[in-house]
Amino acid sequence: MTAARARVLIIEDNKPQADAAQKYLKSLGYKIFWAPDGKSAIKALSTEVVDVVLLDLELPDMHGTKILQWIKHNDATRRVCVIIVTAKDSLGEKVMGLEAGAVDYLLKPYNDMELQARIRSCLKTQALQDELEKKNLRLMELVDEVKTLAVTDHLTGLYNRRHMNKVLNHEFQRVKRYKEDLSCLMVDVDHFKRINDTFGHAIGDMVLSGLAKTLKECFRTVDIIARWGGEEFVVLMPKTPLKEAADVADRLLKSVSKTKFEPIGEESITISIGLCNTPDTEIESAEMIVDFADEALLAAKRNGRNRLEIYSC
Ligand code: GH3
Ligand code: MG
Ligand code: MG
Ligand code: MG
Repeated sequence: MTAARARVLIIEDNKPQADAAQKYLKSLGYKIFWAPDGKSAIKALSTEVVDVVLLDLELPDMHGTKILQWIKHNDATRRVCVIIVTAKDSLGEKVMGLEAGAVDYLLKPYNDMELQARIRSCLKTQALQDELEKKNLRLMELVDEVKTLAVTDHLTGLYNRRHMNKVLNHEFQRVKRYKEDLSCLMVDVDHFKRINDTFGHAIGDMVLSGLAKTLKECFRTVDIIARWGGEEFVVLMPKTPLKEAADVADRLLKSVSKTKFEPIGEESITISIGLCNTPDTEIESAEMIVDFADEALLAAKRNGRNRLEIYSC
């Protein structure tokens, strides 16, 4: 905000003093509002956009600090710079005003040039604060983006393996403590090498993204789906008993085999799934949950693919 466009509200009950300040600041290009008492000051602050307030403390209807508190407690006005302008050279009033949120104070009678210098310095500080706030906001956005990137698989948008390992540990602790059900699926695309060989790696990537979408559609939002690596995915289903998880896995098998993945036309893909449930099996560590699901997956591959196998000890 340049001085020429800055809006100043003079709260001053002494009309000659208000007039003098008004005349001087107008000549410098400021837009001026004047309020002779607290009530009209609050009205002006509620209806006009103001950058700087020159606040007299001794007013006919209320003390200036009341207005200051009102300004600082209002979202629409809390950023307004308040300069206390008072004849009182009392230390207590100064401290009280600054603590209540005023940025500066000026003792009457003041020199016009000093008034201008104080207003300019307030505006400069305000502009720097605005910039800092904007940069902080951007920084917070970037931190959020980085946090998301750190847990996301770049190709599919699913969680990555590192995040899944964290979740696995957390869920395993819950299982141990609360004896809750936890189901884990290991999903692997059948003969995916063939898709790459036939259509190329880039098309293969697109199929993996499409498959991630199908996975998302099949599970509840509380289930955690991650790309474990290559064309393998792990799905954790908290509080889900074996039977329920097996039903969802069966639905997923059917859904994938029926899905037309656009870049490969009439060609379809199938998946194999290994399922492990705790406490149905004796699981002693988070890693074992995935290991057992992987063992079941290998059995599914051995037994013909496009099928579900359940781990049992
Ligand atoms: P199966 O699992 O049924 O035994 O056969 P497969 O052909 O799927 O298994 P294999 O482990 O032999 O090959 C996995 C293939 O997945 C090989 C690899 O090139 C491919 N692959 C792994 N990651 C990616 C990827 O990010 N993009 C693409 N396009 N292909 C990938
Ligand atoms: Mg007064
Ligand atoms: Mg495979
Ligand atoms: Mg594989």
